[in-house]
Amino acid sequence: MTTMFTEPEERVALREAVRKLAGKYGHDYVAKQAASGGKMTEMWLEMGRNGFLGVNLPEEYGGGGGGMADLAAVLEETAAAGAPLLMMVVSPAICGSIITRCGTEEQKKRWLPSIADGTHLMAFGITEADAGSNSHQITTTATRDGDEWVLSGQKTFISGVDEAQSVLVVARTADEKTGKLKPALFVLPTDSEGFSKQVIPMSWQAPEKQFTLFLDQVRLPADALVGDEDGGLWQLFAGLNPERIMGGAFSCGMAIYALDKAVEYAKVRSVWKDQPIGAHQGIAHPLAKIKIELEQARLLWQKAAALYDAGDDMTAGEYANMAKYAGGEVACNATDVAVHTHGGNGLTVEYGLANMLVAARLGRIAPVSREMILNFVAMHSLGLPKSY
Ligand SMILES: Cc1cc2nc3c(=O)[nH]c(=O)nc-3n(C[C@H](O)[C@H](O)[C@H](O)COP(=O)(O)OP(=O)(O)OC[C@H]3O[C@@H](n4cnc5c(N)ncnc54)[C@H](O)[C@@H]3O)c2cc1C
Repeated sequence: MTTMFTEPEERVALREAVRKLAGKYGHDYVAKQAASGGKMTEMWLEMGRNGFLGVNLPEEYGGGGGGMADLAAVLEETAAAGAPLLMMVVSPAICGSIITRCGTEEQKKRWLPSIADGTHLMAFGITEADAGSNSHQITTTATRDGDEWVLSGQKTFISGVDEAQSVLVVARTADEKTGKLKPALFVLPTDSEGFSKQVIPMSWQAPEKQFTLFLDQVRLPADALVGDEDGGLWQLFAGLNPERIMGGAFSCGMAIYALDKAVEYAKVRSVWKDQPIGAHQGIAHPLAKIKIELEQARLLWQKAAALYDAGDDMTAGEYANMAKYAGGEVACNATDVAVHTHGGNGLTVEYGLANMLVAARLGRIAPVSREMILNFVAMHSLGLPKSY
């Protein structure tokens, strides 16, 4: 009998199929691509051909007709196999969801099928250097000029722009009276005149790069605007809740990978008599603790995704935040414990775990930091005064 704590049969089968495909690539493929400046394109396109990248998108536009819970399961499996596809958080989850929910019929037909099969990668740009966590302060501005929009401003830490055909840019149509953000979303082709990018060197090796973007009077046609210029914040959250759910699943997948590696090593590494190091509670207990934290975090993203798929955006938002928090924590803790379990080997390039220490930290910072989630929970879940 199915209980509410087991995934439906189709998702279990989906996970198995993704595991098989991602397992063909695995951590070695990613490490090789990262070291040589390569990308994950081969795996990305194979995932797309198999329908895995667009499982959440509507069938009539080339997707799988599933939900965010399916897409997050796909991402978790790729990460658990050591080959996480970071751009899944962005292209099908954020951009695909926003276009599905806010786009016109024409826009859905134009972008969703190629987002689903992976041939069109859409990056997402909201963050700005001077605004940081306070997105209300973004200054990238969209001004109407006849039939066109003119966008000017700068973005920072935007992932995968070198691989992307377009960026879904969050600009503001200024509301001078309140200073409140009126977000307006535009699909900006990466070959647009007036658009340029600069790579930000990061401290860990990954095929995906981050960029500062410069928008200098970029002219876009009227139909580049997705949703309503006066539509308000909900249009943004149609994409940001999926982003947080995916962030949680991404981190959980990373934690699964790290825990598996650590347990494997703890079972075979033996330095005292005949016992493996895993026989010592100093090694076993931290691993057991990670297992518990991991299952807690996975339940949270599954609950957040179920709420989002059921259309309960408000409660989904609360749980998506908590899921992202829990995922970020367990990924950091799991990679730390995995490195420690490996002793000196944990810090070698060969074992590939030290690089993950930095990568896992991303889950505490982006897309929304641990502190901003605590602020949100304190205020919205607990009714405490706003602190910022
Ligand atoms: C690898 C990577 C990829 C990214 N990809 C993208 C992308 O594709 N698109 C995109 O738009 N953005 C992207 N980002 C940006 C990311 O969303 C931001 O880094 C994040 O929102 C935090 O903003 P910030 O870095 O400006 O930190 P800041 O806002 O400067 O915060 C710095 C520190 O202060 C804390 N802090 C800030 N305000 C408060 C407060 N009120 N109370 C308590 N503590 C507070 C924060 O928690 C944090 O620890 C990416 C970032 C990274 C690192």
